[in-house]
Amino acid sequence: MYWEKDLETLERDQLTALQLTRLRQTLAQASRGALYARRLEEAGLTPEALRCADDVRRIPLTEKQDLRDSYPFGLLCVDREQGIRLHSSSGTTGQPTVVVHNRHDLDSWANLVARSMYCAGVRSRDTFQNICGYGLFTGGLGFQYGAERLGCLTIPAGAGNTRRQVKILTDCGSTVIHAIPSYLPRLHQGMAEMGVAPGDTEVRIILTGAEPHSEGTRLRLQELFGVPVFNSYGLTEMNGPGVGFECEYQTGLHVWEDAFLLELLHPETLAPVAEGDIGEVVLTTLDRQAMPMLRYRTRDLARLLSGPCPCGRTHRRISRILGRSDDMVIIKGCNVFPVQIEQVLMRFPELGHDYLIRLISEEPGDQMRIDVEMRPEFFTDDWRALDGLCRRLAEAVCDEVLVTPKVKLVEPGSLPRADGKAIRVLDERIGS
Ligand code: AMP
Ligand code: ZN
Repeated sequence: MYWEKDLETLERDQLTALQLTRLRQTLAQASRGALYARRLEEAGLTPEALRCADDVRRIPLTEKQDLRDSYPFGLLCVDREQGIRLHSSSGTTGQPTVVVHNRHDLDSWANLVARSMYCAGVRSRDTFQNICGYGLFTGGLGFQYGAERLGCLTIPAGAGNTRRQVKILTDCGSTVIHAIPSYLPRLHQGMAEMGVAPGDTEVRIILTGAEPHSEGTRLRLQELFGVPVFNSYGLTEMNGPGVGFECEYQTGLHVWEDAFLLELLHPETLAPVAEGDIGEVVLTTLDRQAMPMLRYRTRDLARLLSGPCPCGRTHRRISRILGRSDDMVIIKGCNVFPVQIEQVLMRFPELGHDYLIRLISEEPGDQMRIDVEMRPEFFTDDWRALDGLCRRLAEAVCDEVLVTPKVKLVEPGSLPRADGKAIRVLDERIGS
């Protein structure tokens, strides 16, 4: 059932005691770096001053900007020669951010990914095909070392080249695959073009994550491939994959609380939100040496889920990521998250998987236009039927986000495709 039963099922009071011990160690470690040394001194905080894990709230928050300002090595808390790996976040704007790991950090990370995969049902007898970018992106090497630690026959397939992926998948009998959600329909399409039905393969588990996607998308993917699809959450600043993972019950993401101290804060007041309310995920590393992170504001929004999980793990669960505060679109005075729109689109069987939300300046005011793929089998030259579909779509989106979009149905494969994570919003408004 468990990769590390003792840790995964630790009683809550023991878990918080472990967190306090590790939080103190982390504080001591963090103060070896210039930025945290200064901040902790200003706040008058020493490891001994922390009396319980909740005292984490006395520590100042870390912003993405702090990492940018410290680029590349300003947050290093070990000698540079102890660092053995560097990863960088996939953000496309501004100064990149990097995270450096020492041997201990990589060891701990590999273990967390192994634990995560095990928790979703992956076992050492599995053949694991990792269909994502190897390089600075953490999904490649992160899963690679985790799967090796677990003992899987691990295939570092990398991203793209769908025909080759399908060939490896069928030739090697891969049983578990990992890919970002926006790529999985393309893989399925590639399989169909090569005459391979999912049922002809040995695949029994799909792991996906790294970008926002709705429950509707998961259900569609499960239907397409006929196997369970598990959500994986992580970010470079917290290693990468292996922060939160779904167990076989798919009841939300268990956050590994022996390694990360989890807070959900109101994005503006920064006060802890009530259980069940949407808050920004704020994380503190509890087992990292080279670059510990104290109260890092992820900008990811989620809910804390209450109640025990039938799997018996005691680590708390969060909902899937509902959006990022910096992905939020404000149009006609309404706050809209792309995933909310995706959730609506996925309810329409006539639609494919790809969509693009365009924000455009038009008289009399800004408009939201959704370009969305239509499934070929639903194409018709009956414009009234198509018009009716667009209208139903616009109404359904408006019910969800209070803005009526214009809807344009497009041919499958005609929307621009990103190499890595999908781009879902184009802001083409004047002045943006
Ligand atoms: P990066 O560090 O560049 O790989 O990006 C990390 C970000 O990807 C996170 O902060 C989230 O915004 C997003 N992300 C990662 N995993 C998920 C997931 N399972 N669902 C939604 N968003 C995710
Ligand atoms: Zn569980």
